[in-house]
Amino acid sequence: MKIGSRRLECLQSNIYVTNRCDRQCAHCYYPHDDMTMSLDVARDIGRWIVKTCKDYDVKLYKAHFLGGEPFNAIDRVRWLVDYLYTFLPTTTHGLEDGN
Ligand code: SF4
Repeated sequence: MKIGSRRLECLQSNIYVTNRCDRQCAHCYYPHDDMTMSLDVARDIGRWIVKTCKDYDVKLYKAHFLGGEPFNAIDRVRWLVDYLYTFLPTTTHGLEDGN
């Protein structure tokens, strides 16, 4: 990773799409309110990720979708994944399966 040369080998982000969760785990510290990411925020995040990958010539980008239970906001997850698949391959070295 060389910030000075504006190149990053890998960029990862944790994207919290909703607080909603139907479970009640005893150890949970997360608020169980009904806050879910708006589509406007999802668009802003998608644009920021694509811009950052382009600006820093990111070779590998990894997204982690979290909550709450992210499947309670699967439409937001799908929207972001579709957006990133549409724009990242043309602005970076492409998507790869990561570990
Ligand atoms: S957010 Fe995670 S830890 Fe909290 S209740 Fe839901 S599944 Fe359990």
